[in-house]
Order: sequence, then structure tokens, then C-alpha cells
Amino acid sequence: MASSATSGLQPGTIERREPGADDVVIDITHCGVCHTDLSQTRNEWGGSVYPLVPGHEIVGVVRAVGAAVREFRVGERVGVGTFVDGGHSLGVCAREHEHRDHKHFVPTYNGKDHEGRPTYGGYAQSIVVKQGYVLHIPDGVPSDAAAPLLCAGITMYSPLRHWKAGPGKKVAVVGLGGLGHIAVKMAHAMGAEVTVLSQSLSKQADGARLGADHFHATSDPETFKKLADTFDLILVTVGATLDWNAYIGLLRMDGALVLLGIPSGPGSVDAFPLIASRKTLSGSGVGSIPECQEMLAFCAKHGIVSDIETIPIQQIESAFERLARGDVRYRFVIDMASLGK
Ligand code: NAP
Ligand code: ZN
Repeated sequence: MASSATSGLQPGTIERREPGADDVVIDITHCGVCHTDLSQTRNEWGGSVYPLVPGHEIVGVVRAVGAAVREFRVGERVGVGTFVDGGHSLGVCAREHEHRDHKHFVPTYNGKDHEGRPTYGGYAQSIVVKQGYVLHIPDGVPSDAAAPLLCAGITMYSPLRHWKAGPGKKVAVVGLGGLGHIAVKMAHAMGAEVTVLSQSLSKQADGARLGADHFHATSDPETFKKLADTFDLILVTVGATLDWNAYIGLLRMDGALVLLGIPSGPGSVDAFPLIASRKTLSGSGVGSIPECQEMLAFCAKHGIVSDIETIPIQQIESAFERLARGDVRYRFVIDMASLGK
């Protein structure tokens, strides 16, 4: 856990709530390391509350279920993503929209549940989650490489589906990191023509292996000339403020630029290119619980998991440092068995 923005992560003890009738108790086996974990642990966006236990790409095994739990059984492999409660459980929001219902959304960590208790994430031995926010991990999908699907996977699947990526569509993925590499696999599996826009060409061979048809460096100004008016959909996974206008110039008529990465500062946008060619500038955050279960089935069907580097929890600080400088291909996953050692 982190005790402040500058403390780093240290071993510590947290209390999970006593499980109620509606709860699933999960022994965590694996947890992915999302860039959001780093940003929130270090309070890069403001609003972090300490002590903070990060982790929202959780896979584990059910240890116990409450009396009202019907869908999960002891010993089953399950997942938990970025939120552990929402407006649906209060009867105020439809299932498919509750992850956008800011009033009632309960993040897996750095939030408060509906009873006012702080939430702590998956860099931990266990977690207690309401059954409506637990996901089934399909058989045959390895737990370690599945963990990043619970955040990175759904964050990319949802906009790819919403903007109808598929045959005949040209999709660009900006940033080949944890989110970006899964987006390439998914968009390729959906049948779209996929282009990676990376800072350099250093990951070009990986791009081809992951399913990209084209790969260009954004550091080369020629890229923005060559690819003007090309894409139906551009998914930006970079957590930094970019020259959005340059990317809007890569959209064809009616194309959409969708922001997924979370920069710590604002950017600016020219209205004219949006107006002239009815282009869309949008954003998207994770996805609903039913959509996440659908995404897991899609990944199982197409053999999609994350490319991972497994680490013991003792190496989390060096993993954060490497993640900060983009030195991971493409997701760290903590083997939680290391926690007791
Ligand atoms: P990541 O693994 O660090 O990948 C980010 C990639 O962006 C890097 O691999 C790099 O790719 C590129 N990049 C990094 N710094 C850059 C810069 N200054 N300029 C241009 N490109 C840069 O991170 P991640 O876990 O995929 O997360 C990406 C972002 O999405 C973070 O901001 C995270 O907080 C956010 N996020 C949002 C949601 C959501 O619901 N919308 C969910 C999860 C995460 P190249 O080397 O290929 O350029
Ligand atoms: Zn995440």
C-alpha cells in the first residue's frame, strides 16, 4: 500500500468487510499493473486518498460465497475489474450505463463504497466483492494473461464495438502499450484494417506479430501528411497531452477520435476540421459488467490474452519505474503467491 504520493508501495495490512449474503470472497492469484495504478499511487491526477492499495485487473479463485450468491461457486476462477459497485445495485441506473454514472460508481480502489467505507484494490491477498460485479473467467484462458483484460481489455473492446470496428473499417491505435497492444489484437480479430501509430518504429515487429497491417512513427512529420483523411476510428491510448488537431487531420469524413489515455493537463482543439467533415472527438472509459463478460468470451473465442511479464510483488517499485519510461512489453502482472513470501 502507499501511505502518500511519495511513499512508494510498502507492505501493510487492510481489513476487508465481513462478507454479506450477496458477497463473493476471492483469493487473488494475479493482478495486472495498469498505468492508472501508477498515476493514482503517485497522485498525478489529484484526488488520491491514502492509504491507497492499487490494482483493478484482478483474477482469483472463489474462497466463499454468501447465502444469496447463485452464479458463483467455491473454487471457480473469477475476475474483478475497475469497479465493484454502481447505480444498478441501487436501482437507479441501467446495467449498461452504470460505469458512466459518476454519482454511484464505486471504483475498485481509491473510492468509497455505498456505505462510506474506503475501497482497496487487488495488490492484496483477497477481496470481497458483490456478486453483480464479479466476472467469470472462461475455461482455457490462463489467469495471469487474462488479468489485464479486466481493465485494458474492456477499455479497448468497448469503443471498438461502439464505433463498429470490423471489415472495411480503418482503425488506428495510438500508443503501443498495455491498452494499445490489446486493441491491436482485438481490432484485427474483428476484421478491421489496423494501423499502429507509435512514437518510433522500435516496436514495428511486435506490431506485425500482434496483428497490425501498418505501423508508423508519430515522431516523423511525414506520417501526418501521408495518412491525412485516412481513418474511420483512432483510439488514443497515450496518457499525455498530444496535438489532438494533428490526429483529427488523420480522420476521414465522419471518423471518430476517441481518447482513452488520461493526461494530467488539458489540450486544445480547433473546431473547423470537426465541423467541415463532421468528425467526432470523444472519450471512453472501461465498459459495463455485461460488456466485460462479453469481451472475455470474445477473447476466449479468438485466443486473445495480454502479452505479459510476471513479477513478484517485491518488484513492484522497479516495475512502476519501468512502466513510467515505457519499458514493458506489454503488461506487468503480479503473481500474488509472492505476497506471503
Ligand atoms: P502504458 O502501458 O504505459 O502505454 C502507454 C503508451 O503510450 C506507451 O507504451 C507509449 O507507446 C505511449 N506513450 C507514452 N508516453 C507518451 C508520450 N509522452 N507521447 C506519446 N506517446 C506516449 O499505459 P496503459 O496502461 O496502456 O494506459 C494508457 C493510458 O490509459 C493511461 O493514461 C491510463 O491511465 C489510461 N487508462 C484509461 C482507461 C479508460 O477507461 N479510459 C483505462 C485504463 C487506463 P509507444 O511507445 O508505442 O508510443
Ligand atoms: Zn486500468
